[in-house]
Amino acid sequence: MHVHFALKADLCFSNELGPDARSAVDAAVKEANGRLFCKGVPRGVPPEEIGRITLWDVEENILFLEIESGGYTRAHDALFRFRKLIGSALGKHHLGLREIRVREFRVTLTGDVMESAIPRIPFIQSVKCDEGNVVLDLQVTTQDLENRVPDRIVKLIEEKVQAAGYGGKTEHWELLYESPKKERTYTGNPTDEMAARHWIRHGSSRGQWIYGPQPIQLFRAFTAIVEEEIIKPLGFSEMVFPKLDTWDVLSRSGHAKGVYPEIYYVCIPKTRDPAFWEDVADYFKVTGEVPVEMLRERIDGPIGALCYAQCPSFWPFVQGRTVANSSLPVKIFDRSGTSHRYESGGIHGIERVDEFHRIEIVWFGTVDQTTRMAEDLHGAYTRVFNELLELEWRCAKVTPWFMAQEGMVGACGCDAVGTTDYEAYLPYSDAWLEFQNVSVNGDKYPKGFNVKIQSGEECWSGCSGIGLERWTAAFLAQKGFDPAEWPEAVVQRVGTLNEVFRFL
Ligand code: ATP
Ligand code: ZN
Ligand code: MG
Repeated sequence: MHVHFALKADLCFSNELGPDARSAVDAAVKEANGRLFCKGVPRGVPPEEIGRITLWDVEENILFLEIESGGYTRAHDALFRFRKLIGSALGKHHLGLREIRVREFRVTLTGDVMESAIPRIPFIQSVKCDEGNVVLDLQVTTQDLENRVPDRIVKLIEEKVQAAGYGGKTEHWELLYESPKKERTYTGNPTDEMAARHWIRHGSSRGQWIYGPQPIQLFRAFTAIVEEEIIKPLGFSEMVFPKLDTWDVLSRSGHAKGVYPEIYYVCIPKTRDPAFWEDVADYFKVTGEVPVEMLRERIDGPIGALCYAQCPSFWPFVQGRTVANSSLPVKIFDRSGTSHRYESGGIHGIERVDEFHRIEIVWFGTVDQTTRMAEDLHGAYTRVFNELLELEWRCAKVTPWFMAQEGMVGACGCDAVGTTDYEAYLPYSDAWLEFQNVSVNGDKYPKGFNVKIQSGEECWSGCSGIGLERWTAAFLAQKGFDPAEWPEAVVQRVGTLNEVFRFL
């Protein structure tokens, strides 16, 4: 895809530009086109690719400019370089630059750009397609240009074109390890069986279960195994991460780039004055129904989302700080609270729910420390699944959607960044279920939250999400409901199953 930028702008000065000022402008334009705009541009780049002032004119206190470029010293970058030059050149004539007004900003893309790749956002005023060109007229302020809005739009279009080439949300999947096959002793669906035994019952919200004592004994047994075999030996410390993620957190974590269809949104009351809410309460008292439409007018936000990925809300703890070498690698985990995802039609049993429980392990340090920890974790997990849980499982390297969206994989050219999914075989459905993952996230989080390490080296982070519903579903699907058939490590930690509820 080839890109061409063209802008028209008015530079407004404090006073009328007289003949002397005009010749100063003429000299500045020659200097800019001849030298200033070529700075930093590699040799051999054709001149039409480099930003240049193609037209200028003066009327009273206004200097009018037209700037064009290809991909080098883009028109808006050229504008800002020229702003500095002309500011000091006309300063000598006692003229101060008061304001820059962007009159027109046109981006022309040449190549295979389908219409669906053009974002529908307010900056793009009009889109014209003709003969292999897509012409975008942008409405942007100087501030928008300083924020690199045109560059981001072009990048976004490039990403959309690329994504369309992949055909949607495909994950690259590459098998790393497969455990030995296990004898099939049970072929039932564990969710159905648990529901029949009244171990679990649907909660009142979609994709939500109320867990009775027995499955929680399993949850706790798995948690104990994770603690004894992974968290303690590898030296992770427990923290409590917030479970409401603000837009700021989700922006810095990168989730704001695409998480919208899958989050639970959080709103707050416009005021906590009871009088403001009295009619709502009265309506309920009279009808027995909560008036949702009335609520809509009385709430602000959404201010963010319920916990989606668990680790993003940790990062403000170290945001803007430099972490001492003696603390590295930082190794922490969170097992407080729930995660929430709007899984829509995808809800299935306890393995794909809207409200789930997860232990999230997080670590960061140098590139080497971070990738080594991912390997250590893989080793520990392998032992747990093979020797303690005796599962039939496999793991595969996948490219997660957020990295694919950010163009991180490939862009950094390194194999170390990415996610390993751990999958268990489900005999009842003859399918594999992802029950946890280990991700090396590169510098994404340290960069997003501005975290540095003492040595000044690149800081990388990783995380691993252990889904307790998924572990339970995988375990019961393979081992069934007779504790006599369960591996010793689990039986020991579960103890006797508590039959608390009996019904008439
Ligand atoms: P899937 O592809 O199955 O939707 P995912 O790629 O969305 O999974 P991640 O974002 O990697 O999952 O989340 C990490 C872990 O959190 C998963 O391995 C799983 O254990 C758990 N998890 C994610 N979504 C759910 C869900 N809807 N229900 C239960 N557990 C979940
Ligand atoms: Zn994470
Ligand atoms: Mg998912």
